[in-house]
Amino acid sequence: MIDLKKPSATVEPSSVSEASIKQDHNAAWRQCLSLIMPAVGEQAFQTWFQPIVPLQLTNNVLVIQVPNHFFYEWLEEHYVHILKRAIVQVLGVHGKLEYSIVVDQNNGRQPYTLNIPQNIQATTLQRPVRQITGHSVAVTSESKELFDSNLNPRYTFDNFIEGECNRLARAAGISVASKPGFTSFNPFLVYSGFGLGKTHLIQAIGNEIKRLHPYHQILYITSEDFIAQFVDAVKLGEVRRFVAQFQRADTLIIDDVQFFGGKDKSQEQFFHIFNHLHQNGKQIIMSSDCAPKDMKGLMERLLSRFKWGATIDLQAPDYHTRIAIVQTKLNAQGIYVPDNVVDYLAQHVTDNIRTLESVITTLALHYTIGKAELTLELAKTVVAKLCHTEQLTEKRFTVAQIQQMVAEHYYLKVSDLLSASRKPELATPRQIAMYLCAQYTEASNKMIASQFGGKDQSTISHACKAVQRKMQTDESYKKLIGALKAKLNNLRQE
Ligand code: ADP
Ligand code: MG
Repeated sequence: MIDLKKPSATVEPSSVSEASIKQDHNAAWRQCLSLIMPAVGEQAFQTWFQPIVPLQLTNNVLVIQVPNHFFYEWLEEHYVHILKRAIVQVLGVHGKLEYSIVVDQNNGRQPYTLNIPQNIQATTLQRPVRQITGHSVAVTSESKELFDSNLNPRYTFDNFIEGECNRLARAAGISVASKPGFTSFNPFLVYSGFGLGKTHLIQAIGNEIKRLHPYHQILYITSEDFIAQFVDAVKLGEVRRFVAQFQRADTLIIDDVQFFGGKDKSQEQFFHIFNHLHQNGKQIIMSSDCAPKDMKGLMERLLSRFKWGATIDLQAPDYHTRIAIVQTKLNAQGIYVPDNVVDYLAQHVTDNIRTLESVITTLALHYTIGKAELTLELAKTVVAKLCHTEQLTEKRFTVAQIQQMVAEHYYLKVSDLLSASRKPELATPRQIAMYLCAQYTEASNKMIASQFGGKDQSTISHACKAVQRKMQTDESYKKLIGALKAKLNNLRQE
């Protein structure tokens, strides 16, 4: 048994007194369960909470053991708020939860437990001072160390699998990360088609800079968020503050710059920020879905600046890279499959890495939830379903079908989705259901809104934007949406 520690739902203050703290892990967990059960419903409770084994309770840290990595991600994705609430009520405001994950090697050897260092959570909590995500621009501290980079820590060079398709871009990225602002790769622009690793690579550069240069201020933002925040700043008369927050960065990472196309005012601001940073020797990193010469609606003077540094493309993954991706990603979830299955996936899922990931996630779902053996037959079925219909472009579903599917997925009633409750456990599935309805039904936003309990139609476009934005920055959320789309596929085949 290896015993490492995994980040947890660290708890925020509540009104419950600390007198209720129990030092017995079994008793504490039993108490948590009694609070969780009514909040999640019986079916979800049995699936997600009964298999958990409490291991120890020391210094208000309750360690629970979960069956595998996927299980852990699911809990954090779906039940983090409920868990937090229960822990606060049982252990008090300083209570914490840690996960211990059983890694099943599926090769006859003993399972072992794996935990991830706890300080990830602690660091995040110590620096939630600057928010530039979504539409908010809030600056509450100017401290250098407390600059929130908005990076997703999951994107690293370690898990960016190297192959012919990305070797050059990866090496250049590592070089930028070692000396940001001091290489000839400034600006550094990486471009490729959909799902080939641009966001992963540019965020990995940011995370590596953060690791190597802890006092370096990094800012990651998508061009869409930049535009949205700029529009808000104009409305609020806060353009100077908006610009200043970018000008303070030592490294600015802008994802999907092609969306600046046709947005002249935002481009203008970006142009000034770009010049300011570049003149001061700061690093600029960008991604785009095409080479600068093919970008539409971008000002010539901005495009000419892109050419000052390095522009490198990411190619579609070759067979050997696909093999490595399948193996690494399944193994990372504690799942080991026969070589013929790995080979089949690498042979047949060729278009992009995101599709490959959807297939891997679906197989992991079958393995973890369906307790299925990962055979070649199963791989064939999953590939047949996902790869022909990955984009689900046909609008063949009804709003009711999607509501039903999402409600079942979350063990909710459809009426819960239609309610006005803002509880995250209802608001999140509702938002996702709205997004799927907008994508995969013929209904207009107005019609969808009326079928969600008579809401305003702007709620639907807001939900779509929110889901799309979250998918860009939150890997497990993106996987979840992929899994739901896969469920829709299944629905269609029935
Ligand atoms: P893009 O921004 O080009 O659309 P992403 O960076 O979002 O693509 O990549 C799609 C998915 O594929 C992400 O989940 C990413 O982590 C994964 N991915 C892409 N390239 C690699 C790679 N070389 N190694 C491991 N995972 C990768
Ligand atoms: Mg991207």
